[in-house]
Amino acid sequence: MTNGDRFDRDRIERARRRRSRSRLHKAVAALCVAAVVSVGAAWGLGAFAPQPAQDEQAGDAPSQDAGAQGAQGSGDAQASGDQANGEDDRAADFAVDPAKQTEWRTKTDGTKTIWLTFDDGPSANTEKVLDILDRYGVKATFFVTNEEPQYAYMIKEAYDRGNTIGLHSYTHEYSIYASEDSFFNDLDQIGAVVKDQIGYVPCFIRFPGGASNTVSAKYCKGIMTKLTQDVQARGYQYFDWNISCGDGAAGHTADELAAYATDDADYSNVMLLMHDSAGHEATVDALPAIIEHYQQEGYTFKAIDRTALASHQKVNN
Ligand SMILES: [Zn+2]
Repeated sequence: MTNGDRFDRDRIERARRRRSRSRLHKAVAALCVAAVVSVGAAWGLGAFAPQPAQDEQAGDAPSQDAGAQGAQGSGDAQASGDQANGEDDRAADFAVDPAKQTEWRTKTDGTKTIWLTFDDGPSANTEKVLDILDRYGVKATFFVTNEEPQYAYMIKEAYDRGNTIGLHSYTHEYSIYASEDSFFNDLDQIGAVVKDQIGYVPCFIRFPGGASNTVSAKYCKGIMTKLTQDVQARGYQYFDWNISCGDGAAGHTADELAAYATDDADYSNVMLLMHDSAGHEATVDALPAIIEHYQQEGYTFKAIDRTALASHQKVNN
């Protein structure tokens, strides 16, 4: 069994896993904690070390680096526009376009800003998330999959309610990292799903496992180094995260997830990883406390646009 198979199985069976965490999973979690410690130490972020495997799925490398790379691209910055101004503005601004020059920002800018991001949906949890966001008057970003196609209509629903849609993966299988072709084949498929819902393919993406994942090395050495460059050459920008609520690991209570998500607010710009896929009811339950925390701390909530922090983790493969 490959690591990728193992992680995919974990993802599909996360409900069962919550009841009985396997020794394997614990071992993976321990490795992730070790990775957090080492990455945190390397970047002087020891405060993150106590957090559990807090990544995008249990097997993904949870690098916390928010600004390891310089700004990408050049030319005129794209005005983000007010997302409340309508869908046409967003379509023109957010559609993937290799010819479009964007002054992407990979360093924090000192403003207290938070981007709430939800991966792996849509699912039955997505509407609950949207209702909470609306109740607090904040917007978020959804990096979507085709895991539960019966909920694809929630992509349009989330978009129409002022949130940003990004691409995550059609299959969310790590075998997509076997080659550049297999990755883009998968990306094109989820792009088509999103286009069917909102009318265009957005330029915002999040790699399964994040750019720092090492699972991909089982399928192709060096693939993340290539893909992080390829996607930008094709007009996309990828967004990792600098804080996770920890829901990539199973079994945490809503209180625990809220604590992880708000444990270290030293970042002025927070790109917060959460999941709205099936099995993440605790994340839904934690969301109000997370929002209230950052509101009380004076953060502005934004959906991702071309001015957002393109949080890039260290590429390890
Ligand atoms: Zn994911």
